[in-house]
Amino acid sequence: MSNFRIGMGYDVHPLVAGRPLIIGGCKINYHKGADGHSDADVLTHAICDALLGAANLGDIGSHFPDNDSNYKNANSLMLLASVVSKLKKKAYRIVNIDTTVCLQNPKIKNHISSMAQNIAVAADIPAENISVKATTTEKLGFIGKGKGISAYAVAMIEKISN
Ligand SMILES: [Zn+2]
Repeated sequence: MSNFRIGMGYDVHPLVAGRPLIIGGCKINYHKGADGHSDADVLTHAICDALLGAANLGDIGSHFPDNDSNYKNANSLMLLASVVSKLKKKAYRIVNIDTTVCLQNPKIKNHISSMAQNIAVAADIPAENISVKATTTEKLGFIGKGKGISAYAVAMIEKISN
């Protein structure tokens, strides 16, 4: 039996005026931000779901309900750290995480290494094991029209046997 397990996560948030745009723990300068109960960090949420999925521990909504006032404007990196500790309790370690952020604007290329660094600290793994990619949707659909942002994440975890 293999000790490796894989999980995927997907998240979407609307982009609205009057909210900060936080992706992978980086505050991006833009006239709109992601709406949501927490800080609406779409990338970190997708990673949380990928990790929870890999460990078959449910989804982010079941661990951090969006009607719980504890998570209003919550720093999603803290949620990620909490997910990682749940995995550690089940004797899982993270092997690597690969992600894609989908948004038309703004360009986030210059923030990618800081995002990977933030995620690495929260997930307690080296930044070299975290890949953050970005794509537009060629102006198609709700992302292309600037109405929202989405992120995909895939995570590999391994059961530690001793
Ligand atoms: Zn989310």
